[in-house]
Amino acid sequence: MNARPGVEVVVEHVSKSFEDGRIAALRDVTFRIDPGEFAALTGPSGCGKSTLLNLVGALDRPDEGSVTVGGARLEQLTDPSEYRASTVGFVFQFSNLIPTLSAAENVQVPMMGRAPRAAREQRARELLEEVGLADRAGSSSTTLSGGERQRVAIARALANHPRLLLLDEPTGALDSATGGQIIRLLLTLRETRGVTILMVTNDTDIAQRADRTLRLRDGRLDEATHGVAQRPA
Ligand code: ADP
Ligand code: MG
Repeated sequence: MNARPGVEVVVEHVSKSFEDGRIAALRDVTFRIDPGEFAALTGPSGCGKSTLLNLVGALDRPDEGSVTVGGARLEQLTDPSEYRASTVGFVFQFSNLIPTLSAAENVQVPMMGRAPRAAREQRARELLEEVGLADRAGSSSTTLSGGERQRVAIARALANHPRLLLLDEPTGALDSATGGQIIRLLLTLRETRGVTILMVTNDTDIAQRADRTLRLRDGRLDEATHGVAQRPA
């Protein structure tokens, strides 16, 4: 399967504001996620969850502090787009699949230009199998249910063997049973691949299934609760 072990994520004294400082989205946030750990990030709407996820995904830069992923300081990267493509897999609330493409073709999108066609097709088949959708490979995303679409989005996020999965409310648009299936899939991926997972969720039942919950309020980290990090020897 060619999985690569998960990375450590270290966030130190990170602050981020918008609109010339009038909106303090994150204030002095510090935490660490171990390689292969599954951390949930919770908190009320507007508390800074997506802002924090974007910083860890190098989609944005902190005003102060540092984010270090797998030993690399993101603010010092010369090519953040290569980091995003090779280290990170992103999943958002809405799967954002391309409706004119099949499930298998959607999964191949991140591999375009990075792998030859035969390898892309083979890998898309394996990934759809891994998320339990081998039989829907040729289906248009418009014919898939919300949960199936999110599973395709997860397969797509895994295309380039990411060492970190970042998910922003991946179950936010799903009913609780379907959301539970998505979490079971993430737990399986964490076991089989050792990938590190940081998942934003507003659902406390969903958050409880992670190893640990990081709680944000008004841009500050409240506490780190719910289980102790398992640090691989
Ligand atoms: P959450 O994901 O927890 O709902 P966000 O991280 O999206 O919260 O937003 C945190 C705060 O920062 C909110 O007050 C939001 O309006 C503000 N914010 C986020 N992104 C921007 C932006 N690009 N420009 C201005 N304000 C922003
Ligand atoms: Mg958000």
